[in-house]
Amino acid sequence: MKADGVFPTIGSKYDQLTGLYNRESFYREAALLLGARYDVDYCIVCMDISCFKIINDLFHMDTGNLILKTAAEYIKTLLNPRTSISCRSDADHFILCVPTEELQIEKIISDLDKKMQSLHISHNILFFAGIYSVDKRDLPIDQMCDRAGMALKRIKGSYLTRYAYYDAKMRDQMIEELLISGNLETALLEHQFTIFLQPIFDPHKNVVISAEALVRWFHPIHGMVSPGKFIPVCERNGFIVRLDRFVWEEACRVQRKRLDEGKKVVPISVNLSRLNFYSLDLPDFLSLLLAKYDLEPWMLKLEVTESAYTDNQLQLLDMISTFKSLGFSVLMDDFGSGYSSLNMLKDMPLDTIKVDMAFIRELEKSERVAVILKFVVELAEALGMGVVIEGVETKKQCDYVASLGDVAIQGYYFSRPLPIPDYEKLLDKYPL
Ligand code: C2E
Ligand code: CA
Ligand code: CA
Repeated sequence: MKADGVFPTIGSKYDQLTGLYNRESFYREAALLLGARYDVDYCIVCMDISCFKIINDLFHMDTGNLILKTAAEYIKTLLNPRTSISCRSDADHFILCVPTEELQIEKIISDLDKKMQSLHISHNILFFAGIYSVDKRDLPIDQMCDRAGMALKRIKGSYLTRYAYYDAKMRDQMIEELLISGNLETALLEHQFTIFLQPIFDPHKNVVISAEALVRWFHPIHGMVSPGKFIPVCERNGFIVRLDRFVWEEACRVQRKRLDEGKKVVPISVNLSRLNFYSLDLPDFLSLLLAKYDLEPWMLKLEVTESAYTDNQLQLLDMISTFKSLGFSVLMDDFGSGYSSLNMLKDMPLDTIKVDMAFIRELEKSERVAVILKFVVELAEALGMGVVIEGVETKKQCDYVASLGDVAIQGYYFSRPLPIPDYEKLLDKYPL
């Protein structure tokens, strides 16, 4: 059933609730319109409402219907019936076909905001729009709508950006994302994933004090796929939970092998993507992993980023406290990159701050960054926490950072992330 609880009348051209065209007749009419007005540039605009489902759940269905009808009434007054058409395609989705010259998207969005505010519903109702400037007239209308829909999907829920135009890059990204998604399962089964280890140094004693495990994907045809490409896809489709667990196990395997060979071991830190915190068995999983490889908790450190804090603070606090009671160290990754780094620091029992790479990149360009870095090191010291500075690439950066106090350094200056055998060689070279 539709969001409004009404089925369109079979055979009708119109959506019963709003009186706009329904999807099928819109496709037909839009094709006719674009065919008849070949000399005019057109846009297809897909619009929908943030959290419409929640609004329907929270309030009575009548409220949802009122929102849709109000939006449709506005759309009717907005469009010139000789040049433009519109429909409600389904649920809270509206599609417009409008001459480019007549499209004032910012005005439409701000007018809709005002209309929604005038309904006095105690929920922020925001419209988002994706726009396809019709550059290929022979494309079927449903594909034009898909393109506008792709642009919409990019920005939905972003709050800062309420509309976006489709460009060819989006299509490439979408195709790439689909390809990546379709290959993940096989990649895991066929051992295409592996870990690299990036050593972390104490610049004062010149020793390796720990390492970070970073996942790598070697695709048999495409070669190495960058984590920057596939990690965000895994985070969107949930695969990251399995991938992270694989990485943790690989890290444990390295530690066990070295212990068996009587070699020195330093802690390996692993990334815990925010989705992991929805699995309540996470602490049990980690404990069992340690037991399976007969390791002590200090041998595995846990890196958590601020996005996990933004999601669900109480659950995260609970989880981190459990990790601590199990003997794990917990690091705050990418400190300073998000909106609430200081809040997270205030609320969570963390052991170490990893300062985001952006700071070191700006160091030479900005006096203020140098001051902030100094302050962060002092802050960590005052809180009894460790500090790792990420992204140190030059001697100059290293010298400055080392002058700030008791810091650890992770960056290309000392070492890039290494395949396991190279990491082991490097570790064997340095004294403890
Ligand atoms: P991150 O956790 O902040 O990891 C550090 C990233 O900085 C790594 O990129 C590392 O190669 C890079 N890096 C280290 N030193 C330098 C330097 O001096 N200069 C520059 N330019 N880069 C440096 P990588 O391996 O490409 O990973 C990128 C991100 O992907 C990671 O950022 C992390 O957020 C994510 N990631 C990587 N492996 C995993 C994983 O196993 N699980 C999860 N959830 N995320 C992972
Ligand atoms: Ca990390
Ligand atoms: Ca980081």
